[in-house]
Amino acid sequence: NDALARAESLIGVIPDYPSPGILFRDITPMLADAAALRACIGALVEPFAGRFDVVAGIEARGFLLAGAVAAAAGVGLVPIRKAGKLPRPAVSVDYALEYGTATIEAHDDLPEGCRVLLLDDVLATGGTLAAAQRLVGRLGCVVAGSAVLLELDGLGGRALAGDDVHTLFHA
Ligand code: IMP
Repeated sequence: NDALARAESLIGVIPDYPSPGILFRDITPMLADAAALRACIGALVEPFAGRFDVVAGIEARGFLLAGAVAAAAGVGLVPIRKAGKLPRPAVSVDYALEYGTATIEAHDDLPEGCRVLLLDDVLATGGTLAAAQRLVGRLGCVVAGSAVLLELDGLGGRALAGDDVHTLFHA
């Protein structure tokens, strides 16, 4: 698929960002390209078509994908935010980082049993996506699937986030 190949070529690699030794994958050139964005949104959702009730994007770049997927699929959107950003009482999940811990939260608004498609830009160690999957369970909902644009192979992300993560590109 030409548009997807082009989309992949538009994901940048930025050395030493945000800190020395890190190779940061930058999806913003892909997002800015109409055909590439459309192809990625279609391919992210394709295995799950008709099998989810709502899409949840993980802060911050997951939001960009979730908005487009929600509009394309005709479903609503739930933001999964970093701790302390939501205005109403929220369900929280803590997870381990390389140094320390992080917390993600979502409002407890979804109907029981709601099927949630999780979206993020990059799968690295899998900790973030695994935490989001636990959060969906704590909300009384069901994970319909987890999809990312780019999986960083060799970090073992699937051990935490599950072998059924849907990945468009690998690096
Ligand atoms: P993980 O929890 O180690 O899998 O890291 C995934 C989270 O970190 C996702 O929310 C990504 O947005 C972010 N992340 C990790 N590496 C990159 C990168 O190279 N580019 C953009 N985001 C990244």
